[in-house]
Amino acid sequence: MADVRQEQPRQTAVWRPRAAMVPRARLPVPPAPGKPGEVWPVLPQPSEWRASFPLPTWMAALDQVASRPAQGLAIGIHLPLCAQRCAYCAHDVVATGDGSAVDRYLDALEIELELAASILGTRRELLRLHVGGGTPNLLDDAQLGRLVERVERHFRWPADAESSIDCDPRRSSRAQLALLRALGFRHLRFGMADLDPGVQAGSGRLQSRALVAEAVLAAQQAGFDSVALDLVCGLPGQDTARLAATLEALQRIGPDRIRCLRYVHDPARYPGQRAVPCDAVSLAAEVDAAFAFAARALQAAGYLPVGDGWFVLDGDPWLEARATGTLRRWLHGYASGSAADTLGFGPGRISAAGAVLARNEPLRGEWERRLRDGRLPVVAAHHRGALEARLHAAADHLFAYHELPRALLGDGLEAIWDAIGAHAADGWVARAPDRLRVTAEGCGHLPELARPLVARAARPLQPA
Ligand code: SF4
Repeated sequence: MADVRQEQPRQTAVWRPRAAMVPRARLPVPPAPGKPGEVWPVLPQPSEWRASFPLPTWMAALDQVASRPAQGLAIGIHLPLCAQRCAYCAHDVVATGDGSAVDRYLDALEIELELAASILGTRRELLRLHVGGGTPNLLDDAQLGRLVERVERHFRWPADAESSIDCDPRRSSRAQLALLRALGFRHLRFGMADLDPGVQAGSGRLQSRALVAEAVLAAQQAGFDSVALDLVCGLPGQDTARLAATLEALQRIGPDRIRCLRYVHDPARYPGQRAVPCDAVSLAAEVDAAFAFAARALQAAGYLPVGDGWFVLDGDPWLEARATGTLRRWLHGYASGSAADTLGFGPGRISAAGAVLARNEPLRGEWERRLRDGRLPVVAAHHRGALEARLHAAADHLFAYHELPRALLGDGLEAIWDAIGAHAADGWVARAPDRLRVTAEGCGHLPELARPLVARAARPLQPA
């Protein structure tokens, strides 16, 4: 195997977050339409990273992780493969019905796990594990077992680790859910998008309400600690009445958690979206309006906001963690407990170790090539400065705790305090002398509230 510390000769890939978002929903447009986009759970945002030598930067960070063998880790594993591509999809995934393609992908993933483990030196304990996609339950039983075996070969996966997996309800069965639970996954999240047949036809993803309800019930009966459903806000044809009907149906289905996502429309990057009709002028505001509508409806139905579009029922462990000050926002949602270095596996995955952020090569073929050459596939990295770390901590706290203590922001960032505090006029925050508190209405606008933090982290070289 080649030296994993060898810097790759090619240019560092430039990666930018998804740009515009497009809906056709006929929802009330807010008076001051914003275009916040999604806020990545890291600051600075990946488009701002500027390490000249990403791989050596990341290798030095991994050496630091290796020097702390008693500390638990978090890992995220990406499986960008689906049975078919939904028209609205804004992910870099490949549609395949070929089991050997899955095996080849797992071969590369195993190399990446092995390379990381060889640098870390010991079989490190996992605090958190997320397997996302794509469609992880595209894998057959043997492939799922193989994936878990390889993870456990390199990491200790205790039964109480926060472990979660994304699934497509159209591919799940009671037997598969029982297997996933037996393999050690504690939390399960189903993709869904919308339950209205008209919206489904426009977005290219068909699944009946009965199928989704049966999948959620089966997962709950299989013993998962939580079962979540994803709702996409701002899909074409998703007017107020249809969205309200879907939200009502969701209540009856009764998932433990619901994740509201904003529709992202970028047909230049995702050609399948050319089939999705939209009005580019009003789309961002309409997506935001749909999201805010869903946030209000879910809160009225008893689902409480966490952050990043997550809504949970009363008694959820995330709410208990928030009450005790132990709720953590991490790259794949929320968790209770201590902060952890996070390693991402798969094309485009983000890692965070100490003050260093890194991102893998996003193109699957190139990611695989690097691994088959025995090289870690990191192509972008960034060493966070003190100011950036402060901004990142403030954003995490805002999303997880729905407040911004003045002390957390610190000196020199008064303009940010004022900019976020100005949303008191929208009813999104309440001002107190020592903190800004996000209101119930403001919980549907966390990305907009965080925008001054994101913007300030985009120019870290200027003094605070
Ligand atoms: S929306 Fe989800 S299931 Fe559909 S193609 Fe994209 S990743 Fe796959």
